[in-house]
Amino acid sequence: MPYPNLLSPITLAHLTLPNRVLMGSMHVGLEEEGGNFPKLSAYFAERARGGVGLIVTGGVAPNRAGQVKPFAATLNSASEARRHKHVTDAVHAEGGRICMQILHAGRYAYHPWNVAPTRLKATISPFSPWGLTAGGVRSTINDFIQCARLARDAGYDGVEVMGSEGYLINQFIARATNHRTDEWGGSFANRMRFPVEIVRGIRQALGPDFVIIYRLSMLDLVQDGSTWAEVLELATAIEQAGASLLNSGIGWHEARVPTIATLVPRAAFTWVTQRLRESGAVSIPVVTSNRINTPEVAEQVLASGAADMVSLARPFLADPEFVKKAAENRANDINTCIACNQACLDHVFQNKRSSCLVNPRAGYETEIVIRPTTKPIRVAVVGAGPAGLSAATVAAERGHKVTLFEAAPHIGGQFDLARRIPGKEEFSETLRYFRGRLHATGVNVQLNTRVTQADLAGNFDAVVVATGVGPRNLTFPGHDHPKVKSYMDVLLGAPVGKRVAIIGTGGIGHDVAEFLSEPADKKPRNDEDSLRHFLQEWGVDYDGWGVSASPAGGLCPAVVPSMEREIVLLQRSSAKGGSRLGKTTGWIHRATLKKRGIKIVSDVRYDRVDDAGLHVHIDGQAQVLDVDTIVVCAGQVSRTELVAPLQSAGMVVHVIGGAEEAAELDAKRAIARGAQVAIGL
Ligand code: FAD
Ligand code: NAP
Ligand code: SF4
Repeated sequence: MPYPNLLSPITLAHLTLPNRVLMGSMHVGLEEEGGNFPKLSAYFAERARGGVGLIVTGGVAPNRAGQVKPFAATLNSASEARRHKHVTDAVHAEGGRICMQILHAGRYAYHPWNVAPTRLKATISPFSPWGLTAGGVRSTINDFIQCARLARDAGYDGVEVMGSEGYLINQFIARATNHRTDEWGGSFANRMRFPVEIVRGIRQALGPDFVIIYRLSMLDLVQDGSTWAEVLELATAIEQAGASLLNSGIGWHEARVPTIATLVPRAAFTWVTQRLRESGAVSIPVVTSNRINTPEVAEQVLASGAADMVSLARPFLADPEFVKKAAENRANDINTCIACNQACLDHVFQNKRSSCLVNPRAGYETEIVIRPTTKPIRVAVVGAGPAGLSAATVAAERGHKVTLFEAAPHIGGQFDLARRIPGKEEFSETLRYFRGRLHATGVNVQLNTRVTQADLAGNFDAVVVATGVGPRNLTFPGHDHPKVKSYMDVLLGAPVGKRVAIIGTGGIGHDVAEFLSEPADKKPRNDEDSLRHFLQEWGVDYDGWGVSASPAGGLCPAVVPSMEREIVLLQRSSAKGGSRLGKTTGWIHRATLKKRGIKIVSDVRYDRVDDAGLHVHIDGQAQVLDVDTIVVCAGQVSRTELVAPLQSAGMVVHVIGGAEEAAELDAKRAIARGAQVAIGL
């Protein structure tokens, strides 16, 4: 067996799971509308078919006050339970198992009727909560129990009680958010009474044949969060109240420590569940989570004794067959989640349906269907960036005869530059995956081949132009001075001086700033040192955690890295620098630059470059920036030179990715568009 720990069975309450993999709760945006339940069912059924041990749904509120936003998914009536039956039947028909997460958002709810233990507004919400009365607390507990009852009626194998990420239950537990003086506040015994009564009530109401997972916040990462002693006390009490499984939560939503973004080292928080297990505070199985995205890492975590199960969430958007492929010893075929958040979490915050950058079918299982073609044709795809890779592999999968031409000696296009950015190493996995798909689907790959219209005309029935983008060149005097370099040159190793000005504050400007400011003493990723560096840089108490003086919330002063370069980012506009970065990751990039002393200067007019440096006007004042290197990250232009000649030659031409539109381009759009065009061929 390839992964003996990962693929070994485990029994929870009445249920034996075939493996140790839990699909963690994710809200995908299909939950709210009744009409979407068939789509939601197809989404879950595909994951059940892929062999995951146990699925946990996105959060469902036990009452209206607990809804994450107005009209969010709620389960408090028999008619709602009947709709959920679509989902549970679909999963069970595939031999899967599924629990429903009960989530009360408390003061994180995005509506004015939100409630909390105490009237304290969250920094990330515009709405002040109503303080729950003692009667309100009791009725909320009853709503949780009733919700669990309805979940069982709907056919769920159990429920997960959401006790982490800073939602209502967490708000009761932490001193930071619970200032009550009645039986629900004050001492820790009082503050934890709320979750303990919920779990006890559900167990009493539903008996032993029902799985109760409790998601316990093991590391709050906020001031006045739980201490380690409190975490252990709560874990023991939750087990005694009747939980079958303890899942782990790391960091409240308002925490200012990255916990799942791509720069977080893989398995960066498994030491927390390890310490829980070693404490002997519980005997029920414990699930560890966060940035576990390959079967190798999952196996290693389980083999080390850090947990009894692993929770993977986004990896199941990227590849529903994660477990099946692992079991068939085909880990290399797994489409790995690169933790970019661009199509999943960022969409949630934009009120859009979640999908996946590397798998545009995620969430669209009934809408994006790849069927074999009935009329195979000869297809040329020009450019092996994300758009071309996606188009070539999907077209070949459908049965077309595909040749992929790439001017460079390797595949990847701009993505090959992205993977060189510190903290974006995961992007290499996507290229590894596409390499495997090119081989498996029989695409004829021609590297080192810059094609022209003459190479293509007459030899193909259709051409997909995926020639992407190139850097926008500047035109002001001195733009060709030796101090001026494009981001491409810099990322490919051109020498850069100690004092640097970066022109452009988009995604690439930020990435280049991080690339140039990466502390030289940073060790390779995924070893103990790299983890320690990450935790120290973000102020997580790794070494002191667990000792009696451990700080509340697990925070400690961050270590400020020593900088070898002086870097400034410049932009012409007066908008807030970095405001167009991803919703859930932009703050991390801004915080990183701040820690490293890198400033963003707005309202800049570029005059010229000469030996003295970069001459600019800032706020109307002339200045010379005495820098050694000026890196141009001023956006992209489409490479379209093939399009008109091919069209004039009467060929069928499809233009995709950056070649189609450079503005607002990212790999999410490029990959999705490639698949869309290939499906239409
Ligand atoms: P490209 O990636 O530009 O690929 C085009 C390919 O066509 C190239 O390989 C080129 O050599 C080839 N080609 C061109 N002309 C010819 C020809 N005549 N014959 C043969 N081959 C030809 N996006 C994200 O979504 N998230 C990120 O975090 C992210 N980070 C980035 C960081 C950096 C540093 C950079 C540079 C980019 C980043 N991007 C990111 C952007 C992302 O990489 C691009 O949006 C994406 O690569 C565009 O895909 P594409 O296939 O359209 O074009
Ligand atoms: P971008 O986001 O469009 O930023 C271009 C920058 O260049 C802006 O700061 C712009 O600011 C400046 N600029 C534009 N024209 C200029 C000119 N003529 N002279 C001087 N400055 C000029 O583009 P990008 O940084 O190249 O990124 C390309 C795409 O890659 C993005 O759309 C993004 O989606 C993707 N990407 C994403 C990530 C990610 O983390 N998700 C990371 C990297 C890249 P002013 O006009 O104000 O000067
Ligand atoms: Fe993972 Fe990015 Fe896909 Fe989200 S969008 S599942 S983070 S690869």
